[in-house]
Amino acid sequence: MFDILSADREALTALTAALGEKKFRAEQLFRWLHVQCVSAYDEMGNLPQEFRRKLAEEAPLRRAAIETVQESRLDGTRKYLFRLADDSFIESVLMRYEYGISVCVSSQVGCRMGCRFCASTLDGLSRNLTAGEILDQVEQISRDTGERVSHVVVMGTGEPFDNYDSLVRFIRLLTDEKGQNLSQRNITVSTCGIVPRIYQFAKEGLAVNLALSLHAPNDAMRRELMPIANRYSLDEILPAMKAYFAATGRRLTYEYSLCKGVNDGDEAAEALGRLLRGQNALVNLIPVNPVTERGFVDPSGSETALFKKKLEKNGLHVTIRREMGRDIDGACGQLRKRFMT
Ligand code: SAH
Repeated sequence: MFDILSADREALTALTAALGEKKFRAEQLFRWLHVQCVSAYDEMGNLPQEFRRKLAEEAPLRRAAIETVQESRLDGTRKYLFRLADDSFIESVLMRYEYGISVCVSSQVGCRMGCRFCASTLDGLSRNLTAGEILDQVEQISRDTGERVSHVVVMGTGEPFDNYDSLVRFIRLLTDEKGQNLSQRNITVSTCGIVPRIYQFAKEGLAVNLALSLHAPNDAMRRELMPIANRYSLDEILPAMKAYFAATGRRLTYEYSLCKGVNDGDEAAEALGRLLRGQNALVNLIPVNPVTERGFVDPSGSETALFKKKLEKNGLHVTIRREMGRDIDGACGQLRKRFMT
């Protein structure tokens, strides 16, 4: 079956020709799919009925269903649970900022990276999402709220570089000027650090932001938190990140989830300072979101602020991730878990 939501304009042009229609029909179709974001061919009013019928037959349009939405009364954050065509569940989150609306998308159903603090990986990986399924999260949320999504972060369930081809295709579709037309600079991809994919991503000619889930200042501590650290050492990861910066000019972000008594000590702060000093990098501190099955504890606000100060003494730029929608979730991935059977 032709995967209509993952098709770029070139592929739609080919499909349209194969179904015996003129080229401009492909442009119209692309607009219906990615600007109006309709969910049935019958809604595509200016397309000939016969063309719509053939499309429905050759390339069924199956968007995910919105299963539930939770909205925070504190800050308007909205958590969406989607049911995919095969009855898998994925989560996406809309966050409101002064600079616009940001959507956090999932890249896989589950995850096989096994990070110890993370809820999304508890049941392993079910399958990759298609480019269209990643894009659909943004489009449905935009359609649901009637607002333009200005920023996208690939920080939901899944490891984007474990689903590389769909990720890149998704970014090209999302930034297509005839579609959602997002700026590449407003997209951030977060990875646990799959080194060959970082180098490959640097060569795509995409100026998107890259965030590395660092979480520890040395390999020994990192291995305790992230199994992927057994595969790639910081000696390999950091040069890859620098190569990404050299190729794109985009400032690098290092995410550091603070787990009390594990990676939040004075020595860790010192070592992290030494590790990243001199890089034009941003450290994003995330007090760990406690997951029942995991047993990690988050440091207090003042402990987090103290850790931040120590990094700043080493000349690092540091932000503390503002917690959004505190009243609606457990940790990331937990809404989905509650719906899994
Ligand atoms: N696979 C990608 C995206 C994961 S989610 C990656 O590893 O980067 C985005 C960020 O949230 C990652 O930095 C991840 O390590 C972090 N994270 C996951 N679970 C968390 C939790 N319970 N508390 C705090 N941060 C968490």
